[in-house]
Formats: sequence, structure tokens, C-alpha cells
Amino acid sequence: MTFKANCPKSSASFLGAFSLAHLRIAAMSDTHGFHESAALPEADVLVHAGDFSGRCTIEFIQAFNEWLGGLSYRHKIVIAGNHDTLFQNCSRNPGIDPVYAEALLTNCTYLKDSSVTIGGLKFYGSPWQPEFCDWAFNVERNSEQLRAIWDLIPDDTDVLITHGPPHGIRDQCPDMHDRKEIIHVGCELLVPAIFDRVRPKLHIFGHIHEGSGVEGRDGIIFVNASICTANYNPTNPTRMITIGEPEEEATND
Ligand SMILES: [Zn+2]
Repeated sequence: MTFKANCPKSSASFLGAFSLAHLRIAAMSDTHGFHESAALPEADVLVHAGDFSGRCTIEFIQAFNEWLGGLSYRHKIVIAGNHDTLFQNCSRNPGIDPVYAEALLTNCTYLKDSSVTIGGLKFYGSPWQPEFCDWAFNVERNSEQLRAIWDLIPDDTDVLITHGPPHGIRDQCPDMHDRKEIIHVGCELLVPAIFDRVRPKLHIFGHIHEGSGVEGRDGIIFVNASICTANYNPTNPTRMITIGEPEEEATND
């Protein structure tokens, strides 16, 4: 197979080429600088759900963008996570304008409380998570501010991408204070937004490395796409999700 070095400029023609019935999505998150170790299965869309940085610097973002440019996926969607500190005016940002950081990502579609439609499917991405150690995109847990952020998710979202998990789904990790106790740390307010209102086909997230894996709940596929393990070893697989059946099967009775 030959890989094209860059995403073609005329992406509109590719949008039409996809059928709603069949879209292959390769999902990863939390590569923490080890993106070159991640498996790259064949797919139509690559999604990175945040924390691509180990140490977030301009040079690192440039290198990450160059890596993205060399991948053959027709569409690449990236959101930021709490470790991608140059993408927000947070206390760990040494004064880089987030708009400048975003502009360095020329080889993907960067989503921040925004959406892109591919093959008739709406992908919506958001980097925010309940506060944890004053990193980027932290918002007070259970706050009105966080509720307002989830209220922005459009009703017709098909693929939701957030950095953090919803509460109770692939969000378990040891308590910071008492390492023996395993607790759920996902966002409580994201749960009703997903199950009672948006009901996406697929929700991709990461952040809690211990929860890496795929599961279905109430007709929705949930993917914790963390590539890094709890010890920051980039050994988890890239997760493949196919929405719909291949066209030849779909036309059979
Ligand atoms: Zn994270």
C-alpha cells in the first residue's frame, strides 16, 4: 500500500465519497510524546482525544504536526488535553498564545468546542475536564461552568470526543491519597448530557490511562483510547471502531 504524504486539499470530494453506512475510525489518546509508538491501523478517520504532549513546547507541537502530516488517513481530528498546556492560558503555560499553538496544527482538524462533519457524521470535540492538579482545560467539578460547556454539544452529534471520561465508564484509577482505593473520577455532568440528550453513536475519550478499552452501554459505544498505561508506557492498542456495515453487506437483504 502506498501512503500519501499529505491530506489532499480538496477534502470536499472525499466527504462525498463516504457513505453514512460505513466509516472506519482509528482512535487514540494520551500518547504523551510517544505517538510514534502507536499502532496505525487502516481507517478513514484518525481521532486523537488529547494529551499528545509529554512536555508541551512549540518544538514538540511542530514535530507532532509533522508526524500527522505523514499519516495516510484522509481525515485527522485532534483535541487537546490537560497536558497540552500551550493550548490554553493556564498556569502551566509560560505565556504562549493558544491561538498560535493551534495554528501550528496544520495537518489535522483541531476541535475545541466545535465540530466537523465527515461522511454525514458529525464529530464534536471538547478538551475540558473536572479540575485535577491545576492543568490545562480544568474546570471546577460539578460547576455551572462545566454544565454550560457540555450544553454546547449539539443534539445531533454522532461522534463525541472529549479528553475526559464520563463518570462511571472506564474512568477508574487509584485514589491519589490512598493508592489502595479505586475510585471513579469521570465527569458526573457529562453523563446526563450523553444519555439523556445527545445520545451519540460513539464517545471517544482518554485521560484516565487505567480505563483504556472499549465497551457498549445503552446502545452507545464508549472508547477510552489511552495509548499510555498508568506507568506511561505506550503499549495499549489504537482502538478501531466501524460505524455501520460495509456497503456490500448493507445492500443484502
Ligand atoms: Zn489527561
